[in-house]
Amino acid sequence: MPKSEPIFDRLAIIGVGLIGSSIARAARAKGAVSSVVATARSAETRKRVAELELADRVVQTNAEAVKDADCVIVCVPVGACGSIAGEIGSSLKKGAIVSDVGSVKGAIVRDMAPHIPKHAHLIPAHPVAGTEHSGPDAGFAELFENRWCILTPIEGTDPRAVAKLKAFWELLGANVEAMDAAHHDLVLAITSHLPHLIAYNIVGTAADLEMGTRSEVIKFSAGGFRDFTRIAASDPTMWRDVFLNNKEAVLEMLGRFNEDLAGLTKAIRNSDGQTLFELFTRTRAIRRSIIDIGQETAEPDFGRRHGSSDSEISLPRPYASD
Ligand code: NAP
Repeated sequence: MPKSEPIFDRLAIIGVGLIGSSIARAARAKGAVSSVVATARSAETRKRVAELELADRVVQTNAEAVKDADCVIVCVPVGACGSIAGEIGSSLKKGAIVSDVGSVKGAIVRDMAPHIPKHAHLIPAHPVAGTEHSGPDAGFAELFENRWCILTPIEGTDPRAVAKLKAFWELLGANVEAMDAAHHDLVLAITSHLPHLIAYNIVGTAADLEMGTRSEVIKFSAGGFRDFTRIAASDPTMWRDVFLNNKEAVLEMLGRFNEDLAGLTKAIRNSDGQTLFELFTRTRAIRRSIIDIGQETAEPDFGRRHGSSDSEISLPRPYASD
């Protein structure tokens, strides 16, 4: 496929794990940028990024990485984004777009916005794509193909900067939607954060069983448990930060979940097969609709595109979650 005109001249990536390295790979493969500068916290990761040739330049400090960059994408756990914003704020060039990939958005606005100067544009983003693997070797250029990338621009952000970031993510294969940060956090609490919590919990419960039963859990894991172990293998730091930074929405969804679980407990105790059957029929239909829109696997999707292809992005409605 012929490469497009670069959307950004220089892209800086801070944190080169699964997501950062996938962005670097995809941006270069699609010709979305003229050059990539990368940095990571540890010398070991920086060395690996250089070995894998993921960037044109690998530098030691965050401030050095953002110098002269047109777009900066911070790809580290949510809890580390604020201090990184503090380190880069004074080195940002005029008109630079600063974004991130964090799985929680309200906390990103809270922690990063105070450090970003008026001459730059902070546009938080969340590519809803990933695997349970971590580090620069885990990334791949196709990760974002036909996956959603949610932008949560702050009220008053220059729409041209938002449109540019949208075009960047679309070139990487993503479908882009904008919403306000609080709404994002509520939606993701049920679609992503709660499922991870449930997986961590069920695998933890199994791990605490006495030894004989535990070995049978491993042996017969294909009965459903195996799928939970994949999710529960996700990066502990990343997920600790998600729950610490999306407390309210997760607790709200957890409250509803516990109520529904109590209902199921009662149905089982009362041998109420109809309640169980009706729920399992409804949930099966949800699974079918996910398959229908091509979102059923973590593997890259090279199929049809969904969502809007407008080059203009509409800013979210008046910043109340609906
Ligand atoms: P990852 O593979 O573990 O990479 C994390 C990167 O962040 C590494 O470069 C690491 O540096 C760096 N880092 C970790 N803690 C840091 C700290 N305290 N200060 C500075 N740098 C630090 O993680 P990832 O999966 O790419 O996740 C990165 C972000 O993407 C997270 O905010 C996550 O919420 C979001 N996200 C993840 C997924 C997913 O499925 N994994 C999906 C969508 C969004 P070293 O290598 O030097 O230690």
